Amino acid sequence: RFSKALKSIARNQELKSYFQNSKELFPIFIKGANRFVAGETRTEGLERVINLYNKGYQVSLEFIGENTTSEEECMLTKNEFKELIKDLGNNQMKATVSFDLSHIGMMISDAVAFTNLEELAKEAQKHNIQLMISMEESQKTDEILSLYKRISNLFSNVGITLQVHLKRSSIDLNDLLKTSGRIRLVKGAYQESEGIYIPRSEELNKRYIEFVSMCIDSNHPLSVATHDENILMDLKAKGFLYSPNVEVEMLDGVRPDLLRFLKEDNIQSKVYVTYGSEWYLYLVHRIAEYPPNIYTFISDIIEQ
Ligand code: FAD
Repeated sequence: RFSKALKSIARNQELKSYFQNSKELFPIFIKGANRFVAGETRTEGLERVINLYNKGYQVSLEFIGENTTSEEECMLTKNEFKELIKDLGNNQMKATVSFDLSHIGMMISDAVAFTNLEELAKEAQKHNIQLMISMEESQKTDEILSLYKRISNLFSNVGITLQVHLKRSSIDLNDLLKTSGRIRLVKGAYQESEGIYIPRSEELNKRYIEFVSMCIDSNHPLSVATHDENILMDLKAKGFLYSPNVEVEMLDGVRPDLLRFLKEDNIQSKVYVTYGSEWYLYLVHRIAEYPPNIYTFISDIIEQ
C-alpha cells in the first residue's frame, strides 16, 4: 500500500517541480539521490559509467525523462541522446543507451517518435552502441511494441524491455522472439489496474524464470534485469547465465554486492546508470519498490 501511495503522490506536478526547482534544498536532495542517480549532467553520467567499465562491468546509460509533450523538448532530448551516443563511442565503450519512447516524441505522435528513434538508431550503429527501449505504463504497451517492431526490421542494434508482471506479456514474448533485438526482462515498475497484472509473488517469480527459459531455448539475446537474488541463484544453478547471449543487468546502487559476485563468476554483468534533472521521479520509484531505501536516502544526506 505504501508503494502504491508513493508512486501516485510522486506524479503530483506541484511536488515534482518543488523538488526539482527548490534551489536551496536541491543540493541536499541530490546528495541522497546520488546513490541511484549519477548526477544532473551528461559529464557526471559518463564519469560514473567509465568508472564502472574500467572495473569490468558492462554499462547502460539513460538520460532520465518521460512524457515529453513539447516538440522542441523532444528534439532537445533526441540531441542529448545523440551526443551521449557519440561520447560513449569516442570513449571506445561498447555500451547501451536506454530511454523511454515517451521522452523522444511518442506523446506527440508515432511519427515524431519514430523519426527520432531512427536517427538515434543510425547514430548508435555508427558507434557500435546498443539502444534499449524501456517499457512504460500498460496504456502505452501496444504503441511501444509497434514502434519497436518497425525499428527492429531496420536495425538489429535496438532492443526492447518486457514487463513479466503484465498478463499479456506471454503473448508479447512469443511475438518478440521473432524479432532480432535483445529482450530485457523486468518484473515491472508501474502501478497497474487489478486483473491485468500479477503482483510480486512466487507466481510472478516462477513466470520470470519461465520467460528466461523461453529466451534461452530460442538462443535469443537476453538481459536478465532483476535484483531478485533467489531468481538469479536459480538461473545460475541451471547454467542459464553463462551464455554469451545473456547478461544480468541491475540498476546502479541497488544490489552492487550481488552484481559484483556474479561478475566475479564470469557472468556478463551490466549496470544501468541514470543522469538528468528529472531524477526525482526515478528516485521515488526506487524508494517505492523497496521502502527501506528511505533510510539509506536520509542517511546519505546526513553522512555526506
Ligand atoms: P523485486 O521483487 O521488486 O525485488 C527483489 C529484491 O531485490 C528485493 O527484495 C530487494 O532485496 C531487492 N531490490 C529490489 N528493488 C530494490 C531497490 N530499489 N533498492 C534496494 N533493493 C531492491 N521497469 C519497467 O516497468 N520498465 C522498464 O523499462 C524497466 N527497466 C528496467 C531496467 C533495468 C536494467 C532494471 C534492473 C529494472 C528495470 N525496471 C523497469 C524496473 C523493474 O520493473 C523492477 O521494478 C525493479 O527491477 C525491481 O524488481 P526486481 O526484479 O528487482 O524484484
